[in-house]
Amino acid sequence: MAGYTPVMIAAPTLDALVGNIFKAAGCDAAEAGRISSHLLGANLAGHDSHGVVRVPRYVEWQQAGYIVAGQQAEMVTDGGAFALLDGKWGFGQTVAPQATALGIERAQKHGTAIIALRNAGHVGRIGTYAEQAIAAGLISIHFVNVAGSVLVAPFGGTERRFSTAPFSVGVPTSPPVVLDFATSAVAEGKVLVASNGGKPLPADALIEPDGTLSGDPHTLYGEYAQVGPRSPANGLGAIRAFGDHKGSGLAFMCELLAGAFTGGGCSGPVGERGRIANGMLSIYISPRHFGTEAAFKQAAEEYVTWVKSCRPAAPGGEVLAPGEQEARLRAERLAHGVPLQPDTWASIVACARNLGVTVPNG
Ligand code: NAD
Repeated sequence: MAGYTPVMIAAPTLDALVGNIFKAAGCDAAEAGRISSHLLGANLAGHDSHGVVRVPRYVEWQQAGYIVAGQQAEMVTDGGAFALLDGKWGFGQTVAPQATALGIERAQKHGTAIIALRNAGHVGRIGTYAEQAIAAGLISIHFVNVAGSVLVAPFGGTERRFSTAPFSVGVPTSPPVVLDFATSAVAEGKVLVASNGGKPLPADALIEPDGTLSGDPHTLYGEYAQVGPRSPANGLGAIRAFGDHKGSGLAFMCELLAGAFTGGGCSGPVGERGRIANGMLSIYISPRHFGTEAAFKQAAEEYVTWVKSCRPAAPGGEVLAPGEQEARLRAERLAHGVPLQPDTWASIVACARNLGVTVPNG
């Protein structure tokens, strides 16, 4: 959080405020609570790009009818150990937990399950679903895409072809191992943060139409005023896929599996749909059913300890396991409050007031 003093809000205060905003926007109390705890959870994990900064955008989407409150995921195909669900543009924080709960239930019955979800409203931080499966003792793997959102250039190209297509794997060790990232070099929210004077982007995170690498948010957003909206529709460049041909290949697979296979559609070409939606193909594995649970947990935990014992590359440095950074930040932010960019807090306050919601100390 460079360049400004963050506004610190206690987690329970933020949770209550965001819940009240979604109740005022027309969600029932349970759905409003799911949305607020999901968004707060992303902030607690340190993924501010997928946290409460999204509140005004979600409310706008709901008011415009792009996301539908009170929607349930609908079963399209039920094969027992596999299923296809349609989220029907319901809130991602409702239909993705439903899909995950179904995957857990089926994996606990059959040992494994594969659940395809299409047409979900923005499902937010994918690690949340891996954590839901971990709480049930399951391994899970999630391929995700954003149908209708093209922001990322494939390796070797300069034009947008992929969404930020996140990927997550959760392993139920103690502590759990949770890998969760966008397949773009940076999530779009991080370009937004940089354009607002926040943490600068790596100098090679973006690519210009002529192939020049860039860390300048104008590459994605074109011209913009210092204060005001930014739209990727106004820029000519793209975010780069992470990890050269390997990350680009993983993004490609997220599009094929979460987009083409689920029937929700790939990132593009963007046609008449006018809405973006997440697709998610998830695989759930029950170590208990494989008869290896105790040996697996022991081997995995010993391995994590050994990897972490690696000599640090930099003096005072440390090797972290996937998910460790998030767990540390969660503990810190629960204890000391959630730091928000002043603009983010101001936009949440404005959104609350528009809906007649009282803002604590606002
Ligand atoms: P990121 O680049 O911060 O990477 C996060 C991953 O790297 C985590 O698994 C974390 O534990 C691990 N990590 C971080 N520091 C580490 C270290 N020092 N050593 C070892 N591992 C470390 O994440 P991102 O790509 O910016 O993604 C942010 C969030 O955005 C994710 O939660 C993702 O699910 C979400 N996302 C969602 C969508 C959507 O459409 N719903 C799209 C894109 C991204």
